[in-house]
Amino acid sequence: MVNDCLRLCVQSGDYSYESVKLACFPRMREYQIHDAYRVSAMYEASNLLKKFRTDSRRKKINPPRCRNFFISASLGVWLEDGDLRLPELGKIPMTNHSLSELRQQGVSITSVTLTPRTCSVIYRKPVEMIVPTGMVGIDLNLDNITSFDTSGSTNRYDIGALAEIHETYRRVKSRFRRRDRRIKRNLFRKYADIEWDRKNAIMHEVSRRIVDNAFEKRLAIVLEDLRGLREMYRKESGNSSYYLSKMNAWPFWQILHRIAYKAEWRGIPVHVISPEWTSEKCSSCGGRMADPPVDGDDVVCLSCGLVIDRDLNGAKNILRRGLRSRPGGSAGEAMMGGQVSERRPNPGADADHPTSHDK
Ligand SMILES: [Zn+2]
Repeated sequence: MVNDCLRLCVQSGDYSYESVKLACFPRMREYQIHDAYRVSAMYEASNLLKKFRTDSRRKKINPPRCRNFFISASLGVWLEDGDLRLPELGKIPMTNHSLSELRQQGVSITSVTLTPRTCSVIYRKPVEMIVPTGMVGIDLNLDNITSFDTSGSTNRYDIGALAEIHETYRRVKSRFRRRDRRIKRNLFRKYADIEWDRKNAIMHEVSRRIVDNAFEKRLAIVLEDLRGLREMYRKESGNSSYYLSKMNAWPFWQILHRIAYKAEWRGIPVHVISPEWTSEKCSSCGGRMADPPVDGDDVVCLSCGLVIDRDLNGAKNILRRGLRSRPGGSAGEAMMGGQVSERRPNPGADADHPTSHDK
């Protein structure tokens, strides 16, 4: 259905949902299916076309096609006796965790999407913003996440397992000797799914612990904006393929995203700061840290001689930048240099003015 819409609309140049609907509705009527699925097919087509328009401005690309199997509904979805019900489809049993989320006061389901492997439910719930009493800086590294907060305490969360899992599956795949390409592709896809499930479980667990800590201590969270980091680890960068594979498998964006949305769900303000120089500068005087590390994970400052754990130094710098980026941030921190960009996920919600809002 989505591909039908794409074919019908790609020439028109008008990709708004209303135009897609106007052009495609007669064709959609031919499908013997509930209205809810017609609407979401046209909506998906409209989104793919808008993305196509944006992307084709930068380079020449083929018209979009929908290649994934899915069915999605935003109308006529409801909960009944612990099952999710979609129009003209059977019951979808929910886990207790999902049910307890969906049954909270004020929750409304926006849409449900089924793929051969997953069922995703998008829902809205009202969130009461907390009034933070401090801030915590989060430094993401290859094998750990280090936090440092305004009360002076630091935490380290081990994520070394993510790289280990990646390495295990990389080795399994490199030993694979079957010639049949189709069998190989299907098997690789299966491995990729298992690998992802295992990594995902770890990322959820770690981000939940970070957010739980921030919530208990009433701390706003400061994260680095790591978009664009991937650019540094492309083929042309001159690094070994082993190193590139390791870096590209490092799911930094997924971890940050999980921390950010879990925090928003709990009403914790999230500040996003520029990652420039957060690991190269001294967290005490703002001078430059010597490279390489002096002893194991410790780095030394070339100006004041401070010897400090590299990751803790990063977390301190991130916290500092977060404090400075906040409205009325301390001017004394201007010596840190570097640019600050702040992006608030909830423009309507300010830390000083707790409000209730939809997420
Ligand atoms: Zn220093």
